[in-house]
Amino acid sequence: MARYTGPVCRLCRRHGEKLFLKGDRCFTPKCSFDRRPNPPGPRPARRRKVSDRGLQLREKQRARVAYGVLEKQFVRYYKEAIRRPGVSGENLVRLLETRLDNIVYRLGFADSRSQARQLVRHGIIAVNGRKLDVPSAHLKEGDVVSFTARGLRSEYYKIVQDGIKSKNSPSWLTLDAAGMTGRVAGVPTVAQGETHLFNENVIIEYYSR
Ligand code: SF4
Repeated sequence: MARYTGPVCRLCRRHGEKLFLKGDRCFTPKCSFDRRPNPPGPRPARRRKVSDRGLQLREKQRARVAYGVLEKQFVRYYKEAIRRPGVSGENLVRLLETRLDNIVYRLGFADSRSQARQLVRHGIIAVNGRKLDVPSAHLKEGDVVSFTARGLRSEYYKIVQDGIKSKNSPSWLTLDAAGMTGRVAGVPTVAQGETHLFNENVIIEYYSR
């Protein structure tokens, strides 16, 4: 499964915003964006005005990078979002938020989405009691996320167990910290998504042109 493997802090600097791709490090003074917020590469001779289309593109790229989704997949999400009934922007947020890797991250089982993705790929995450190793799988209301038998035996499980109480999960997810399980208790809404990172309506406009 394809994914971006280059330096991730560079992406925050390129997109001009903290995208929180490195877990706890993003909240420390080591954050590259805090230290050097300018775009990577040589400084341009003159600052060019960004067109409306360019601004829309930036918005789309920010969302895509934050969720660790490649362009082809993101276009599929857009097509699905406009096909479904309801507000397309909200549908897009829902599609991104209900990905298994995002839910593992949101529950606090991983510090970042890329780490969550790795956990899923390594087969230590179960959905409804059965191993599911597809990070892009979409979960629905009532699904329960837990660790597989292999996951329960891992050193990583003990680390997560120690730190899970300090994590906050969104209201559409219910975390049982003692049992180390999480349940999808509702539908993610725009207000509960990372709307501060991107405006979903601008992304829909970008693709509809
Ligand atoms: Fe972005 Fe986190 Fe790196 Fe800071 S530490 S630049 S927020 S990925």
